[in-house]
Amino acid sequence: MDVLVIGAGPAALAIAAALGEQALAVLCLAPGDPAAVWPNTYGIWGPEVDALGLGHLLAHRWSDCVSWFGCEPTRHGHDYGLFDKEALQAHLLAACGEAGVGWQRGLAASIAHDASSSTVTTAAGTALRARLVIDASGHEPVFLQRPDDGPVAGQAAYGIVGRFSAPPIDADQFVLMDYRSDHLSESERRSEPPTFLYAMDLGEGRFFVEETSLALAPPLPYATLRSRLERRLAHRGVMVSEVEHEEFCLFPMNPALPDPNQRLLGFGGSASMVHPASGYLVGGLLRRAPALAAALAAALARQGQAEGDAAALAAAGWEALWPAPLRRKHALYRFGLEKLMRFEAAQLRQFFATFFTLPEPLWYGFLANTLSVPALVAAMVRLFATAPLAVRWGLMQPRGRELALLGRFLAGG
Ligand SMILES: Cc1cc2nc3c(=O)[nH]c(=O)nc-3n(C[C@H](O)[C@H](O)[C@H](O)COP(=O)(O)OP(=O)(O)OC[C@H]3O[C@@H](n4cnc5c(N)ncnc54)[C@H](O)[C@@H]3O)c2cc1C
Repeated sequence: MDVLVIGAGPAALAIAAALGEQALAVLCLAPGDPAAVWPNTYGIWGPEVDALGLGHLLAHRWSDCVSWFGCEPTRHGHDYGLFDKEALQAHLLAACGEAGVGWQRGLAASIAHDASSSTVTTAAGTALRARLVIDASGHEPVFLQRPDDGPVAGQAAYGIVGRFSAPPIDADQFVLMDYRSDHLSESERRSEPPTFLYAMDLGEGRFFVEETSLALAPPLPYATLRSRLERRLAHRGVMVSEVEHEEFCLFPMNPALPDPNQRLLGFGGSASMVHPASGYLVGGLLRRAPALAAALAAALARQGQAEGDAAALAAAGWEALWPAPLRRKHALYRFGLEKLMRFEAAQLRQFFATFFTLPEPLWYGFLANTLSVPALVAAMVRLFATAPLAVRWGLMQPRGRELALLGRFLAGG
C-alpha cells in the first residue's frame, strides 16, 4: 500500500479520504470500529465551515455570538456552529469508502523502517507495510517524535449539557468567552488563574455550559473548573436541574512542532496542528488535508512504481504540512500564548477587548489561521499599538521561552 494512516479520529479520516481521492492505496489502522461515535464535540466558525462546503453538517448554528470582557457584550458579527459529530464522521467515512480506503483493526505497537518503506506491527502481531506511515493517533502520538522545549500548556474545561432552573445565557445565543468574574472573591480574582464560560443554547430548554481555562501548565484541575462553573451559575441564580452529559476536556495547546527529519508523517493533534492561540483544530485539518494529500501523491508519482526513497517521501510530506510560513506563524502564536498565560484576569480581559476591536478580517483571520505572515504581524503590531498601557507593559516584558520563540519566528520557523 502507499500510505498507512494510524487512527480513526477527525484527522485520520480527513487525511485518509484526501489521500484516497488522489487515487493512492490507503489503509487505516484503528483499535475499534471506525464508525464508533467520537467522544468529543466540535465547534467551528460559520465562514470557516461554509468555505469548506460543510455547513450542512452542523447540528446548530448561531448568529447571536458574543463574548464578555466587561459590562457590555462584545458582538462578534459572525456565525458560529456546532458540528453534528455523527454527521461529520459519516461524511468522512463515506468519502473514505468512495475513495477505496481499507480498514484494519488493531493497536499500532511498533514501527520499523527500511530504505523504501515502513512496517507497523500491531499489538496482535500483524505486520502492515507501506511506503509512508501517517501517525494520526492524537495529541499523545504513538510513534511521532516532538522535541521537548519546555512545559506544554493544556486547555482544560469542564462542561455540562443539561437543563437549568433558568436560562444560563440568552435564548438562541452562543457565548465564545465570558470572562466576567464577579462570582469570585477579590483575592481569587487577583491571584487565581482566570477562566471563562463557553456556552450555547441548544434549543428546547437545553444548554451547554463549559468553564474553560485557555491554557496553563500544569493544566487547571477539573474540580476547580467544576466549582467555578457552579459558582458562576449560582451567582446568576441558575441551578442545574438535569445533567444529560458531562464533558471533561483536556488537550495540549502549545506542543513544539514535530521533528521534520523523522521517517513518518503526522496529521492532526499528533502533528501539533492545534491552533496555539485558540485550541481549534478541526477546521484547519479539514482545510489542509487536500493540499498535503496532493503533495504526497505528486512525490509518490515522481518516485514511480518502483521501490522509492521513503525518507524523501516523508520529507516532502513535512514540507507540505509545515512549510516555512506556517512554522513562522506557529512560533508567533506560541509567543502570544506565552504572554496570555502570564496575564492576570484584568489584563486578559483588556487584551481580548482590544483584540476584538481589530478589523474583522484581522481578528477572524488570526483565529482561523488564514492570515499571511505579514498580515499576522500587522495584526499583532496594531493590537499592541491600540492596547491599554497595562497590556502593552505585559507584552513588552520578555520572559521564559518568549525570546526563543521570537528568534524562531525571525529565523524562518
Ligand atoms: C473534549 C474536547 C473538545 C474539543 N473541542 C474542539 C472543538 O470544538 N473544535 C476543535 O477544533 N478542536 C477541539 N478539540 C481539540 C481537537 O480537535 C481534538 O482533540 C481532536 O479530537 C483531535 O483529533 P485527532 O484526530 O488528531 O485525534 P483523536 O480525535 O484523539 O483521534 C486519535 C485516533 O487515534 C486512535 N489511536 C490512538 N492510539 C492508537 C494506536 N496505538 N493504534 C491505532 N490507533 C490509535 C484513536 O483510537 C483515535 O481513533 C477538543 C478536544 C477535546 C478533548
